Amino acid sequence: MLCGDSPKGLVGIAKLAAESEVLEAKRAVQYFEIGCRSVLNRTRPPAPGSRFPNRMPFQWTINPYRGCEFACRYCYARYTHEFMELRHSADFEDLIYAKSDIAGILRREIRHTWPTGGIAIGTATDPYQPAERRFKRTRAALEVFAEQSGLSVHITTKSDLVTRDIPLFVEIARKNDFNVNMTITTLDTSLARMLEPRAPRPDLRLKAVRLLADAGLTVGVFPNPIMPLITDQEARLDRLAKAARDHGASYFGGGVLFLQPCSRRVFLPFVAEHFPHLLRRYQERYESSAYLKGPYLDMIRERLATIRDRYGLDAGPRFAERVPPKSVLAAHVQEPLFEFA
Ligand code: SF4
Repeated sequence: MLCGDSPKGLVGIAKLAAESEVLEAKRAVQYFEIGCRSVLNRTRPPAPGSRFPNRMPFQWTINPYRGCEFACRYCYARYTHEFMELRHSADFEDLIYAKSDIAGILRREIRHTWPTGGIAIGTATDPYQPAERRFKRTRAALEVFAEQSGLSVHITTKSDLVTRDIPLFVEIARKNDFNVNMTITTLDTSLARMLEPRAPRPDLRLKAVRLLADAGLTVGVFPNPIMPLITDQEARLDRLAKAARDHGASYFGGGVLFLQPCSRRVFLPFVAEHFPHLLRRYQERYESSAYLKGPYLDMIRERLATIRDRYGLDAGPRFAERVPPKSVLAAHVQEPLFEFA
């Protein structure tokens, strides 16, 4: 039993998690309410001399939930549950924390610091996972953005639930840069079910792309993460890019799988079970680093560029650096940024 217990010795986010109230419990999944100091989080610049330059085309992230019910086998965000001392791999999928007072905190943050440089919603956990249907924490953030102008807001999801908010997106896109990135790793439903057991089927995601595009919104497809010898074949990626184009996507991204220790602990047993002939190669390739290096990356880059050219797709959305409107600058107040909820 999680809620109500307050184990001694826990501090910060781990203490908050242990004390969280149960919002709902169903199947093996439990939902909790959790306070947060901030909704907007600034991305960290790369360490000096880093081999991995910061290529993120945004400077702010928002993740309305901690944990993600979609349970993708390759998920890199599992470590975020470890901050709450929840270390079992299933905890990330079954103990979902909805952040409280998203709208109030976000309004205060925007008043204090105008977030230039792009705001990405859903960088760590899916903003349209099943919890959103009931708890509407992503929608709370979007309602705040619909009041603003001159921002650059981007959503990444695997869920067709995203279409619920199309009227709100249209409102945001009237006064801000706005786009939706739909992640589809494969069109093969049975492979998708193995890789992403609780995420919506690929055909449902494509239908969502169609609806978003038909509403006049900028939408693209990301086949991320591209998994060596599982989803990286030219024919698979080509079919996916063509389907994306046919459903109204204007761009097709692409990034190769990386495996931090938290994701390696789940993904390698998955490979052992479903692709045993690949296990040794995966172990060797990811043994010394979470990131692949060398000619494989160049080969995938070229493959994607060729496919994009074939279908007239861009590599990604265009992110505009916007100047805050004068009214925002005038209202820019210096008040304490955070009050601990
Ligand atoms: S949808 Fe994203 S956050 Fe959720 S489990 Fe899959 S990879 Fe992780």
